[in-house]
Amino acid sequence: MTYKRILLKLSGEALMGEKQHGIDSKRLTQYAEDIKKVVNEGIEVAVVIGGGNIFRGVEAEASGIDRVQGDYMGMLATVINAMALQSMFEKQGMYTRLMSGLKMEQVCEPFIRRRAIRHLEKGRVVIFGAGIGNPYFTTDSTASLRAIEIEADVVLKGTRVDGVYSEDPEKNPDAERFSNISFQEAYEKNLNIMDMTAFTLCQENNLPIIVFDMNTPGNLQKIVAGEEVGTLIQ
Ligand code: UDP
Repeated sequence: MTYKRILLKLSGEALMGEKQHGIDSKRLTQYAEDIKKVVNEGIEVAVVIGGGNIFRGVEAEASGIDRVQGDYMGMLATVINAMALQSMFEKQGMYTRLMSGLKMEQVCEPFIRRRAIRHLEKGRVVIFGAGIGNPYFTTDSTASLRAIEIEADVVLKGTRVDGVYSEDPEKNPDAERFSNISFQEAYEKNLNIMDMTAFTLCQENNLPIIVFDMNTPGNLQKIVAGEEVGTLIQ
């Protein structure tokens, strides 16, 4: 296996599946099945989940809600998604722990780095909810930071497109797709891979990112086996 410990970032929007809002159980089931396959192969899996299907701080600001308040609301939204993931993972027979960046002791453990690593070593899927627990950050930044903290081998950004393109492939069908690109080149080309905080954290800590299509069943398994899927940024 190419990777022993992975951090998978899933956006809140991905959980909507074909729906306009909320959580699509079909999509959730597919994700759980894919993750279970790699867990069964002995890969240690941590997941950071977004909240964009429910609430985003920046958007809240536009409707008159205080930005910081909105960001905390966004963090709570990620916990709702994290709980849905946890439930679905357990339904598939996986052992899980939900760790939160905000204290919420009735539903999850607080994030404690050493404890997170211990859970992973024991084969539990660790889901990180509530981002890093601070406003003005995103769950992409959370993914980079937590991956570094738990010494993950790679950040896997699961999306609905099959990699990084020179332009939005849904708008321009002639956009060029990259299979491999350096951090520097991605920066110079202004490719929108992750927000700058998240991107820089990975670059400075030599943590590779793979952007791939998580909605195609089996892709996750191929990646951990070392197959070329999506775009590798390193
Ligand atoms: N958020 C935050 N701090 C964090 C992580 C998230 O304030 O560390 C808030 C922020 O308002 C963000 C929202 O939670 O818009 C949902 O997260 P995100 O937009 O990253 O979700 P995604 O786009 O991945 O679904």
